[in-house]
Amino acid sequence: MHQINKNRYEYMQYRRCGKSGIKLPLISLGLWQNFGEEATVENQKKMIFKAFDSGITHFDLANNYGAPNKGAAEENFGRILRADLNSYRDEMIISTKAGYSMWPGPYGDFGSRKYLIASLDQSLKRMGLDYVDIFYHHRPDPDTPLEETMGALSDLVHQGKTLYIGLSNYGVSEAREAIRILKENRTPCLIHQPRYNMLERTAEKGLLELLEKEGTGCIPFSPLAQGVLSDKYVRGIPADSRASKSQIVRERYMSDEQIAQVLTLNEIALKRGQSLASMALCWVLRRKEVTSVLIGASKAEQIEDNLKALEFMDFTEEELKTIDRVLEN
Ligand code: NDP
Repeated sequence: MHQINKNRYEYMQYRRCGKSGIKLPLISLGLWQNFGEEATVENQKKMIFKAFDSGITHFDLANNYGAPNKGAAEENFGRILRADLNSYRDEMIISTKAGYSMWPGPYGDFGSRKYLIASLDQSLKRMGLDYVDIFYHHRPDPDTPLEETMGALSDLVHQGKTLYIGLSNYGVSEAREAIRILKENRTPCLIHQPRYNMLERTAEKGLLELLEKEGTGCIPFSPLAQGVLSDKYVRGIPADSRASKSQIVRERYMSDEQIAQVLTLNEIALKRGQSLASMALCWVLRRKEVTSVLIGASKAEQIEDNLKALEFMDFTEEELKTIDRVLEN
């Protein structure tokens, strides 16, 4: 039986999530990859314990996480919770989502009331929970009226199945409208989860500004560009890395120009005395609109490396300008 670290709140820092009552750790852990049937339970436990023992109170899931079977990550997380962390539920923020394809037929995808309400019930069963802390709509649905999708999320709050609502992958105008409806429903949007990292800066084009204005928090996913913003690809693609298994990663983040940028960023990080991965997290967290960064990991040691970000949070103006110049090239 793992002994939970009594000093777990001494190192981590917490930021308020928008204008809500909730604070999140600067670093949160996502269970998209390496928590399904492809990974050993032993390794999953090591990562969860490393995180919780270090003050990472927020764990992010979705209905479809886990390979090869969607839902496996929620099942595995639920098992670990029950076995080892049962008495710590009130110290945790657990989120899940629905919005991508989950089950066959017309009711297992996108944003209908039918899908969202059924999906959260299924997620709660898989995790063995009475409620989640945050339930997200995972992506916008171009065909369902936003009032229906937001109405379903608001009803789930009133039913006590989720405490807060989140949006993910919503663009600026979609997010503005959704936030307005949620306010009208008196169930404000707690948080938005966009993709944002040094190689993908779309969130800077109006989204971060909107979230700050609306008092909504922000938790960027893939802050390490799925691992590319680390030193692991400096000498090619290692056999056990995510890029070795994912063409999407190679196409999105590994053009010759991007790899050249990564090599220069790695030198800047070394000059600052930190790893590129931890600098990439500090860079996302430099924005005051960002509440927390949502990392993934395949080993507990990566979480440990990433936690060192907390020791190097400050950039000089000159460093930020140099990084901008590298990213503009
Ligand atoms: P990251 O950008 O943090 O990438 C994580 C991967 O990078 C790890 O699995 C590991 O890959 C590698 N890595 C992490 N730390 C280090 C390190 N210190 N040194 C070297 N390599 C490192 O995030 P993810 O893309 O995994 O996304 C994080 C979370 O965000 C997900 O789990 C999920 O919760 C959420 N998410 C949400 C989405 C949405 O649509 N809302 C979409 C995608 C993610 P390797 O296997 O190579 O070791």
